Amino acid sequence: MATTSNAFIKSYIRPAGHGRFKGRFKGLLFSVVISALLTLTPAFAQDQERQLDERDWVLGNVLTFMLHEVGHGLVALWALPVLGREEDAVDSFAVTYLLDTIAQDKSLGPEKIEQLDDALFVAAGAWLAFAEESDVEDVSLYADEHSLDMQRFFAHMCLLVGREPDVYGSWLDDFQIDADTLDVERCEETALLQAEDWRYLLEVERDESWKDQGRRGLTVVIERGKTKAHRRFEGWLKDWPWLGYFEQRLESDLKLPEPLTLRFGACDEANAYYDHEAREVVICYELMADLEALF
Ligand SMILES: [Zn+2]
Repeated sequence: MATTSNAFIKSYIRPAGHGRFKGRFKGLLFSVVISALLTLTPAFAQDQERQLDERDWVLGNVLTFMLHEVGHGLVALWALPVLGREEDAVDSFAVTYLLDTIAQDKSLGPEKIEQLDDALFVAAGAWLAFAEESDVEDVSLYADEHSLDMQRFFAHMCLLVGREPDVYGSWLDDFQIDADTLDVERCEETALLQAEDWRYLLEVERDESWKDQGRRGLTVVIERGKTKAHRRFEGWLKDWPWLGYFEQRLESDLKLPEPLTLRFGACDEANAYYDHEAREVVICYELMADLEALF
C-alpha cells in the first residue's frame, strides 16, 4: 500500500458520496488517462471527446472476469497442476490472453486495440475500487483464496508493463505509481514467463474427438433478463461484438476435452464462477449491476 500514491487514492478512490466512482473515474479519465490513451492510438488523438461510459466500464470488466473464469475452466478441464493460488494463475490467464490477442490478431485495427486496452484499463480501475471498498480490518480477507484486491491491481499492472513497457509504462503515471514501487525489470521476467507458460498449455494436444459429433467447443448463452436492469445488460451483451469475437477466438485456440458454455444471466448473487458439473462459466447480471454501481 505504501507503494501507490496516497494522493491518487484520495483523489479517485476515496468514496465521495453517491455515485462516487462516476465522479472519480470520469475525473481520472479527463485528467490523466485521456492523455495516456492519446499517446497510444493516433486514431483516438483525433477524437478527444471520447470518454469511457458505464457500458465500457461494465463490459470491459466483464471481459476480464469472463477470461478469468475461462481460466478456471481450463484448470479443471485440462486437469492442470496448480502450484500456488489458482486465483492468481487465472488472473494471469485473463491478462496474458488479452495481450496475446492484441499482439497476434493482425486484423485488429487501432480502434479495436484501443477498445481492448480500455478493457485492461477499466479492470485496473476496478481492482483499485474494490480495494477501496474492502474492509482491511476484517481478518478473513487475508484468509481468502483470492489475493487482496490491491495485490491483484499490482499483479495486473505488472503483467502489462512487463509485457509492453513502451505501451503501458505511461499507465504507471496515470495511476501514480512511482518508479520505486513496481520493479519493471522483474515484471518483464514475470510477464514473459507467464505468457510462455500459458501459450505452451494452449498448444498441448488434447483429445477433441467429441468434435467429430459436430458439437461446438464453446457456446455463449445470453439469458433473457427478467428485470428492466437485467434486460439492459442483456441488450448490451447482445450488441457487444467482442463476445462473438472471443467466442470464436477461444473456440479455435482452446483444445477443450469437452464443450464449455459461457452463460450470462441472473443468479441471485453478484458473482462470476466456473461450474464444473455443468461445464459452464457463469457471469451474473447481478455482478454487472454491482460493477455499474461502482462506476
Ligand atoms: Zn476465480
